[in-house]
Amino acid sequence: MNLKAYRKKRNFKKTKEPSGSNNKISERKARFVVQKHFARNLHYDFRLEYRGVLLSWAIPKGPPKTKGMKRLAIHVEDHPIEYAQFEGTIPEGEYGAGKVEIWDKGSYEIRQTSNLKNSPITMSASFRKGHISLSLFGRKLKGNYEFIRLKGAERKKLWILMKS
Ligand code: MN
Repeated sequence: MNLKAYRKKRNFKKTKEPSGSNNKISERKARFVVQKHFARNLHYDFRLEYRGVLLSWAIPKGPPKTKGMKRLAIHVEDHPIEYAQFEGTIPEGEYGAGKVEIWDKGSYEIRQTSNLKNSPITMSASFRKGHISLSLFGRKLKGNYEFIRLKGAERKKLWILMKS
């Protein structure tokens, strides 16, 4: 998990998006943020703070609103921690050109699923497994959510986000 792919796509002389510092691992409660991104195709960027970067997914239709609802979530490159505060307009001709606004933010926890009570579940283990169980404490997003990687879609980075 690093920022190489993120930096490669952007010209930081032209966009006000953060280039990212080489952060130490944060001891604070982990944050999440959802940014509404008015790019060529409107989508919502869902980001989870983890080990000094933001794990990121682009959700074309936005996060699910009701229990059982599933939304396609495309895993994209890690973003710098500072991106959690970013709002503004990425200039025409630059990667992801268009307005970015914070749609929701808060903290999150990895949820310990009942059948595995004896061994604490970590983000890296969940990510490898392709199933991340989360509790979100945001203003709009509250409660339990699951990121599930679609079978056989590892290379296409296709996941779904479901409200559970
Ligand atoms: Mn985006």
